[in-house]
Amino acid sequence: MSVNVEAYHSIQQEFVKQSVTLVAVSKLKPASDIEDLYKEGQRDFGENYVQELVDKQAVLPSTINWHFIGHLQSNKVKYIAPFVHLIHGVDSFKLLQEINKQALKNNRVIDCLLQVHIAKEETKFGMDAPELSDALEAAKQLPNVNIRGLMGMASFSDNQELVANEFKYLHELFTTHQFDKQPASILSMGMSADYPLAIAAGSNMVRIGSLLFGARVVKH
Ligand SMILES: *Cc1c(COP(=O)(O)O)cnc(C)c1O
Repeated sequence: MSVNVEAYHSIQQEFVKQSVTLVAVSKLKPASDIEDLYKEGQRDFGENYVQELVDKQAVLPSTINWHFIGHLQSNKVKYIAPFVHLIHGVDSFKLLQEINKQALKNNRVIDCLLQVHIAKEETKFGMDAPELSDALEAAKQLPNVNIRGLMGMASFSDNQELVANEFKYLHELFTTHQFDKQPASILSMGMSADYPLAIAAGSNMVRIGSLLFGARVVKH
C-alpha cells in the first residue's frame, strides 16, 4: 500500500484540534489509493485535472467531497459542475461567470474560493488585491456561486520568513473582505512542505498530497 496511513492519522488528529480541514490531494494517484484513505475516514479529496477528476468521481463513493484545486479552464467547467464540492482556484471573473452558468444548468449553487497571487514566482496563478475586490463586488450579480473565501500558494522556497509573510498577507486579505459564512468562511493555504507556517498564519483548510500519497511522477 502506497498510502501513508500513519501520517494521515497524525496529521488529521492535529488538524481536528486546530479546526483545520484536510484536503487529501490525490492527483496522478490511482483510485485505489483514494479508497484506502476513504476507508480510514477521509472524505475531502483534491484533484487538479478535469478528466482525471471526472474518471475518478465515476468509480468512487458518492459521499466524497471533491475539491478542484488546479487551474480551471472555462470550457471545462461543465464537466465538473454536476458534482464538484468546492472550486479553489478561481482567478478571473470570466471563470466565475461560467461556473455560475453551469451551476444554474445543474440547479446548484457552487462554492468557490478566489485565488490570490501571493508568491514571488511569475508562474503561479491568481488575482492581485484590486482584482480581488472587483471580483467580489461583481460576484454579487451571480446567484449560483458562493464565494466562501480565498486560496493561495506561497513561493516554493526554503526561506521560511518569505513563505510566512506571504501567508500572513493572504490572511490579512481574508480578514478584510466579506465572504459567504455558510457555515464558515474558508482560507485554503498550505501544502505538504509549508502547512505548519500556513496554519500559524490562520489557514483553516490545508491541501496535502505527497505526505499522504508519496511523491508524484511529474505530468507534462
Ligand atoms: C499538488 C498540489 C497540492 C499538494 O501538494 P503536495 O506538495 O504534494 O502536498 C496542493 N495544492 C495545490 C494547488 C496543488 O496543485
